[in-house]
Parts: sequence; C-alpha cells; structure tokens
Amino acid sequence: MDAGGHPFYRFCRTALEDIRRQGRYRQFTPLARQADNYPLYDQADPVVQPPEGREVVVWSANDYLGMGVDPAVAEAAIAAIRAHGAGAGGTRNIAGTSPLHAELEAELASLHGKEAGLLFVSGYVSNQASLQTILTSMPGWICFSDRQNHASMIAGIKGARGSSCVIFEHNDLADLEAKLAAAPKDAPKLVAFESVYSMDGDISDIAATCALARKYGAMTYLDEVHAVGLYGAQGGGVSERDGVADQVDIIEGTLAKGFGVHGGYVTGSVELIDYLRCAASGFIFTTSLPPSVVAAALASVRLVRKDGWRREKMFERVEAFRARLRAAGVPFMQTPSHIVPIPVGDADRCTEISRRLLSEYGLYATPINYPTVPRGTERLRLTPGPFHTDAMMDEMVAALATLLDVSVNRKVHAAA
Ligand code: PMP
Repeated sequence: MDAGGHPFYRFCRTALEDIRRQGRYRQFTPLARQADNYPLYDQADPVVQPPEGREVVVWSANDYLGMGVDPAVAEAAIAAIRAHGAGAGGTRNIAGTSPLHAELEAELASLHGKEAGLLFVSGYVSNQASLQTILTSMPGWICFSDRQNHASMIAGIKGARGSSCVIFEHNDLADLEAKLAAAPKDAPKLVAFESVYSMDGDISDIAATCALARKYGAMTYLDEVHAVGLYGAQGGGVSERDGVADQVDIIEGTLAKGFGVHGGYVTGSVELIDYLRCAASGFIFTTSLPPSVVAAALASVRLVRKDGWRREKMFERVEAFRARLRAAGVPFMQTPSHIVPIPVGDADRCTEISRRLLSEYGLYATPINYPTVPRGTERLRLTPGPFHTDAMMDEMVAALATLLDVSVNRKVHAAA
C-alpha cells in the first residue's frame, strides 16, 4: 500500500488528472438565492469573485418560473414545518406517509388526466426506479429508448437485468418504426422518450410516437421533466398542450423545475402505480419526502395550474431575449422551447466564457460540456424566465457579444 492508501485512491488521482486535462473537471459556484429578488443571487465563491458589491443574475436556473421563491410556496413549507416538523420520519411504508403525500399524488394524477400518481424522492429516482421495475416485471421486455434520453432513464433501463434495450435515433420516428417492426412480435415492449430535451431544447412528436407504439403493441413512457408547469393550459406539459396525454401510458415529471421545489413522480393507471408502490425498490426503501417539501410542491402545482401568467410571461421573455440576441448578432440555437443554447464549440472556451461572465459582469450561465453534450457542441444553456427584466437582458446580450467577439461575425456578414 503506498502513502495514498488503497489503489483506488491512486486510480482517483489519475482519473481526475485526465478529467481536468479534458476540461471536464466539475467546479461548483456557490450561489445564495435571494428569496425576494429572483433571479438575483449572492455570490459566495472565494475564488471567482464578481465585481465588488455586485449581485449575480442567474441565467441557467431550472426553477424556470421562480416558484421556489414564490411567497405562497415558501409559506406552505414553513407552515408544514411548524405543524409537522422538519423530516418525514420514515419511509412511505414506515410512518412516512402524511395526508399531504396522498393529496399531492392525487393532484398530479389529475394534472395529467391519469388514474393515479406516485411520488419519489427526485425526478432521477422516479425514472430509474420506475423503468427498472417495469422492465424486470415480466421476462423478455424490450425497451426502445431515444438516443438522447436522460441519464436517469438510462440508469433504469440498464439496471433492468433480463430485459433488452434498443436505442433509436433521437426523435427519429422512421428509425423507431424500423426497430419496432424488427422486434419479436410477442415480446412486451416499452417506448421511453422525453417531451422537451433539455440540452438541445427540441420537442418530440408525442402523438406520432404513441401512434407508432400502439401499432406495434408497445407501451409508452414519457419524461416531461422540462415541460411540466410550462406547457399546456394547466402546466401539464407538452402532452397536455398537444391534447395527447391520454395516449401516453406513463407520464413522469419533477417537482423541482417548473414547480420549483423538489421531488419526482410518475402518473398512470391504478394497476401500474399500485405495482410500483409495492415493487419499486427506489420507492420503498428510502425515507419519503419531508411534509414541508410536499406542502410546498402542492401549493406550487395548484398555483401553476390555476395561473397561466407565469408561463405566458416566460415565453414572452424568451422571445424578447431571442430578439435581442438576433439584433446583436449573437449566435444561438433556435429551439421550439423555452431553452436558449448559445453554441461555443470548445470545452475550454465555454468554461472560460462562463467564468468571465461571472467575474467581469456578475452574470451566471452554466457551461455545458462533454459528456453532457457531444464534443464540438459545447454551449452555454440559458433559460430566461418571467423575472428577467429588459435591463438584465441588455446586459447579458452585451456581455455575450463582447466575450464571443461577435464583431468578427458581423464583419463576415457585412462582407458577404
Ligand atoms: N429527467 C430529465 C430529462 C432531467 O433533465 C432531469 C434532471 N436534470 C431529471 C429527469 C431528474 O430530475 P430531478 O432533478 O428532479 O432529479
């Protein structure tokens, strides 16, 4: 044994050196949210300090509508802590099911027009646990998985021993159909896909995917994590917007993004939910969400269902931001969603631009590098929300124009 102890620690050092060399080392920026000033945060990073006395405007949060700082949502959490304490006190099975849990599950089922809903401790766990449980339930399952599915879905699919996985090209219905047609007719099949893909910001054709699945006798599993709260008249996601929620067998979502709190869930038929409740390890063997989180999520879902102004304002702000980027000649990926990726194309440059945005301008935009996106497609991922003002937008666009040196683009365009 060397001074570093077990060989594993040596492995870690070498692996981390590699990760750093490839520009993939993960650095977190400590940011304290200001509850009454969203999207302003206080910077607490001892290394990368923004200009003296400056607050940070966050442009990459997944609390898309600012529900996590909504006073009614925060108050619901505080009231629940006062009434029920800080923790759940057990797993769902062991004294950890409060009436609030059941109420939230019913609310989510109704949001998606499904018979029943089930809460998990996060969206990640809801995908991993549900897919793994479904795909190990009967022998011979084949899961048809979109190439760009989230890591949590992949974890569930890969963890389902005895089942097989067929990856179809991203949002490619012809490829999905060819693969469905080639599979054994009698095998139980599941098509797993997302509505809004979070890194490219593109949206799948849910109706067409479900129609194909039906044609080949497959069930459908839809991750609406980046869509719930944001799309549809009540925030039921793209499946609600497109009027096709009833065609999807299983709709999964999070309470942590559009709803701004924490936790994940699936909704579907009574049999499915009852089976997951009794068989999904990731549901059964973990302490349930604290009542404060459930109460806050319940308040948030109810508010978001009732009041459409937040989503309308968010989409208005997204368009206003795109118009400014266009006018300034800052390149961006045109998407049909609320996600605005700014292509950079190099991990080091992407990290450096993000660092300079923070240290020179007090603006926070996460660099998205490999392996989250393919090499050469590194980007900043911006998510304008209802609370980004015109002045904040002007500041961000000017900073991007400088750091990306768009004067070069402008000259090229002018010369063309
Ligand atoms: N699905 C997708 C598509 C996601 O992007 C994420 C998280 N980024 C999750 C699931 C996991 O959700 P949560 O953050 O609630 O664990």
